[in-house]
Amino acid sequence: MAGFRAATPDQAAFLAELVDAGKLIATRVPGIYGRSGAFEDVATAVAALVTAAAAPETPERMAFPPVLPRHDLESVGYLKSFPHLAGSIFGFDGGEADAAEQYERASRHHPWDEHQAMTDLVLTPAACYPVYPAIAARGPLPAGGITVDAGSAYVFRHEPSGDPARMQMFHQREIVRIGEPEVVASWRDTWRDRAVELLGSLQLAVSLDLATDPFFGRSGRMLAASQREQALKFEVVVDIAGPEPTAVASFNYHQDHFASVYGIELADGSEAHTACLGFGLERITLALFRTHGLDASAWPAAVRERLW
Ligand code: ZN
Repeated sequence: MAGFRAATPDQAAFLAELVDAGKLIATRVPGIYGRSGAFEDVATAVAALVTAAAAPETPERMAFPPVLPRHDLESVGYLKSFPHLAGSIFGFDGGEADAAEQYERASRHHPWDEHQAMTDLVLTPAACYPVYPAIAARGPLPAGGITVDAGSAYVFRHEPSGDPARMQMFHQREIVRIGEPEVVASWRDTWRDRAVELLGSLQLAVSLDLATDPFFGRSGRMLAASQREQALKFEVVVDIAGPEPTAVASFNYHQDHFASVYGIELADGSEAHTACLGFGLERITLALFRTHGLDASAWPAAVRERLW
């Protein structure tokens, strides 16, 4: 399997524990799981905590499906930075004989890509991506900019792994801030610190790390170095299944990247900056199960009260 990352013994044991307890429902493909009601209850409660924390900012709510126009993925340069993670959607493009041939091959589980053509869609790799063109289409921002609550959206990263915390499809609880550079930068910093408190209140042993995106290849290493140097990305990390701590939330300052791609302007006509934050709902849920046990009814009272 392309790019498959094998699990460490600790990760494999935790995954087996989750599946045995029915928290995750395994499929044929690593990193794609169904989830039990108990899992959903936790993830939903975590999402609601983020909603409550954002409420004083009265963000505008938006919700998008987990697919993105291919044109947008191309415009933001995703295929330069993360060609290895993208999921493109193809569809049948042929006649009756082609369909018969495709079916025959597929029935034997042989490759059947010959009569498939690219569609206009890709799987959404980050929940904030649909927000930027939507805001740009409105024209210049109102004074003070805008905060958008992009909800809990399914996103896709093609990185099959035996680590239960590295799913190929998972929910990002995302909020986006667009406005003046200094406003956006300080919003990112405020949320970064707020997230440490919020996740700490669930009695998770979190810490804050300067981070980089998983850029591809040699030019990617330079992008990562510059991202780190400018402190553009922070992650809240926690131990889920070793050896390394796992990022459960990220806080990203994009400077003018998305604004310049889409032409998002401030009220005075100058270029806006953007930042986003994403809480990984599955990872936070897994961290809670790992830390407090698989039976949520036996979790510490203070954690239960915070969630429910
Ligand atoms: Zn984002």
